Amino acid sequence: MQKRQAPLLKSRIGRRVVGLFILSALVPLCLCTGFLIEQFDAQIISTSRHNLDDLVRSFGISLLARLGSADDVLKVIVSAPRATDDSIEDSVAKLLWVRSVRRVAPRSAELARDQALPRPDARQLLALKMARSVVVSQLGESGNPQIFVVRTLPSGAWLYTEISSTWLWSDARDFATDAGLIVSDGNGLTLDSAGKVPVNFRNAAALPHGWTSRSWEIFLGSRFSSPSWRVAAISPQASLLAYNNGSYLYLIAFALLTILLIAWLSMTVIRRQLHPLDLLTKATKRVAQRDFESFDNMSWNDEFGDLARSFQEMTGKLKVQFSALEMLSEVDRLLLHAPALESILGTLLPRMAALLHCDCVSVLLFDPDSDGHARAYDYDASEAQPRPIRRIAAEVAALKAECERTSPAPIGAAAAARLAYFAPSAAAGVNTARIYKLEHNDHCTGALCVGYAGDVVGPPDSGVSAADLADRLSVILANLKQSESLHRQANYDLLTGLQNRHSFSDRARSAVAAAQEHGLLGALLYLDLDQFKRVNDTAGHSAGDGLLRIVAERLAECIGDVRRIARLAGDEFAILLPSIPGPDSARQVAERIIVSLQRPIVVDGREHHVSASIGMTVFPSDGTQLEELLRASDIAMYQAKDAGRGRAMFFQAEMQRNLEDRLKLETGMHRALQNHHFTLHFQPIVSETDDGCLGVEALVRWPNRDHSPWVSPAVFVPIAEENGFIVPLGDWILRSACGQFARWRAEGVKLHYISVNASVRQLREPGFPASLMSALRDSGMRGEELQIEITESVLAHGAELQRTLIEISAMGVRLALDDFGTGYSSLSYIRTFPIDVVKIDRSFVMELPHDQAACRLTESIIVMCAALGKKVVAEGVETEAQRRFLRQVGCTTIQGYLVGRPMEAADIPGFARRLRSMAPATGDDDGVPAPQSVARSA
Ligand code: C2E
Ligand code: CA
Ligand code: CA
Repeated sequence: MQKRQAPLLKSRIGRRVVGLFILSALVPLCLCTGFLIEQFDAQIISTSRHNLDDLVRSFGISLLARLGSADDVLKVIVSAPRATDDSIEDSVAKLLWVRSVRRVAPRSAELARDQALPRPDARQLLALKMARSVVVSQLGESGNPQIFVVRTLPSGAWLYTEISSTWLWSDARDFATDAGLIVSDGNGLTLDSAGKVPVNFRNAAALPHGWTSRSWEIFLGSRFSSPSWRVAAISPQASLLAYNNGSYLYLIAFALLTILLIAWLSMTVIRRQLHPLDLLTKATKRVAQRDFESFDNMSWNDEFGDLARSFQEMTGKLKVQFSALEMLSEVDRLLLHAPALESILGTLLPRMAALLHCDCVSVLLFDPDSDGHARAYDYDASEAQPRPIRRIAAEVAALKAECERTSPAPIGAAAAARLAYFAPSAAAGVNTARIYKLEHNDHCTGALCVGYAGDVVGPPDSGVSAADLADRLSVILANLKQSESLHRQANYDLLTGLQNRHSFSDRARSAVAAAQEHGLLGALLYLDLDQFKRVNDTAGHSAGDGLLRIVAERLAECIGDVRRIARLAGDEFAILLPSIPGPDSARQVAERIIVSLQRPIVVDGREHHVSASIGMTVFPSDGTQLEELLRASDIAMYQAKDAGRGRAMFFQAEMQRNLEDRLKLETGMHRALQNHHFTLHFQPIVSETDDGCLGVEALVRWPNRDHSPWVSPAVFVPIAEENGFIVPLGDWILRSACGQFARWRAEGVKLHYISVNASVRQLREPGFPASLMSALRDSGMRGEELQIEITESVLAHGAELQRTLIEISAMGVRLALDDFGTGYSSLSYIRTFPIDVVKIDRSFVMELPHDQAACRLTESIIVMCAALGKKVVAEGVETEAQRRFLRQVGCTTIQGYLVGRPMEAADIPGFARRLRSMAPATGDDDGVPAPQSVARSA
């Protein structure tokens, strides 16, 4: 009970109603009780007054009777015959009820003398004279009241008989059981009091509050001719509550009982009312948590019942609406996570069928790419699972027309019978259908078809109609289209339509993992076009784009499956062969590609020739991580390029080592330049005819390697050219060379010029002519004292570098064509460019004079150069025979170990001196310094 009440009183309504109940019961209860108490009290008071009246009267009568009987006895004694005053006095004194007797002469003087006795008043005197008794009273000397009956003796004296108060008041105690009795004489002197009398009670007028009094006059006039006495009875005021009789407790008990009863009653009532309220509150809270459970055994037939029923109705609707909303948000989630139409429709269609209370839902989608095709996704509620997707190739136009025409009217039976699309639904018992158009940008993209086996059900409670769902579906389809194109953008190369690096990486990664897991062999090909940059530079970027597109097509032809080809960047492609029987088949594929790309590519009517270098890795043996494999293929591809381009190479571990060495070299070069480790050696260039005219070629040296004295420039210069380091290094070489030339001049060494090698990279720097100029200026050299050696590859850059060469030549600086005969060696170059000197490459000189072909070629070069007015220098002359041959064919300026090896700067002055001192020998056949003695200096 306690437990069940606690929540009740916690409820605000509960507390309020209980309080009201108790209040509304208490007010009449209190009023009623007050009224009753009042009535009871009045009744009690009047009864008690009656009682007091009776009491005083009875007591007064009894007192009067006592006094009368006492007087009767006295009268008998006094009027006895022969009675004398003395005998009478004696007889009276013997009476039991007499306290004292005194005889007094009735003269006033005597009485005055004897103040102890009260003097009768005039009426009493008269009565005494008539031999009648009187009653007088006074306060005695002891402080106690004295009552006397006075009678005239035969002698005429008065006999004062003091009545014993014990006797007189003997029955006063009996009367005064419930009240106090007070008797007072005519003068107000209290003669006696008995029973309950307040301590300082004086008279009835001064009665304390809460007391009541009744009095009665004891009429002494007729018998004793004396003033009346008064007897008063007092008692505490009678009251129901004041009564010490327990009625007070009863009243309280009654009131308490009433309150308890009311409280219990009110709680019972409230509980009855609050219970449904409580249930409703809980149900509302549950609804907030999407729990739409209905009330169990709801049996209220009152307003609460009505409320509960309408609530239940509302939650029912909410449930449907929530599930509609849930479906829509589920669709949104699906869109975010799995943008595949099948999975969206797989979830959506059953929910739609449930929401629309229909028997089948079908989504018809017209193929955007081909006019005559459509797909249908069907869901049959009775089968509770989606049917296989239907491809519709016929009647698409008719269906389209139907979608445009009837939406969303019920589809006509004739149309339904005519179109095969509706056949499966009809077979499943559907006889009524509505068709809703799906559209995107005002184009009908398909239809949502909702079928019913019976009548079309009215709009559902969910607030979502089939038309809403069709709209939603249209949005989904538009989104899908959008995300598909985003997907394409994110995963495909827009130029070639091939996969991009991102999506290819995913595919390749899983192929590598699969190969590893199943013990298969796969290959990764890394392809780079060889002369693509030239196409871009010469024919423009759009031609480059066209060429890349054709390359992609050819790759697709060779591979068959575009999903295995990706364009990684620029002119780099990757090809994945997920499963091959052995490395040989990878090589065959690569060779097929190379052959296919060797065919000329025509873009905008212009023919281009490119080749491809391919690096190949085999997985999992070359690596198990895609990044590792890509890096290895890249290395192999570079090796293929190094090995002469237009070929495919498998990755080998030593390539990696070479690469690492190269990397080490590259970082080492930078450090060497910073730390001034590079130095220059100088190789003499001697002219036999020109009076021992001497020039030197500056050759860079890097002497800081552990095992060899230096790293050959033939190794590090090409690397520096590739990575651009040649630009700062070349600048340093030029300035050092010019600086050294200035120092020699200051020392008085007679040198005609210094020749410095410059690579294409340097010349392509826009600031190169300016830095030449500043080097000349800083060292105080004239232009013709400097010679720049360029290779034929510079000339291959044609127009681009021609301006630079002209600028250089305009400074007076001579240009020497180095290594002539190794490259394209077109003499037309020499004509069109401002070349002053041609240096015949060592590879020809080496073959002299025993190789006929070399002899003829050398000779023709020399003749031709002479014809064009160019000077000729033969490089790498090592033997006397070579020198002799060269002299015979007209080349008298030579460079080579025969005349002098490259040497340190400090050795040049000595060399020059020796050369000069031998100059007089010029006259004979071998008019050059003794080669051996000079050449040793390096
Ligand atoms: P290069 O410009 O053709 O230099 C001539 C090379 O032939 C030098 O090799 C030289 O030592 C070598 N040589 C000269 N006479 C003979 C000979 O009679 N017999 C033999 N066997 N060799 C001879 P080096 O110094 O090793 O230089 C190799 C290449 O490195 C140079 O070929 C040049 O292309 C490049 N190089 C050297 N120094 C520089 C430089 O300062 N700047 C640039 N850009 N390239 C340089
Ligand atoms: Ca050279
Ligand atoms: Ca050379």
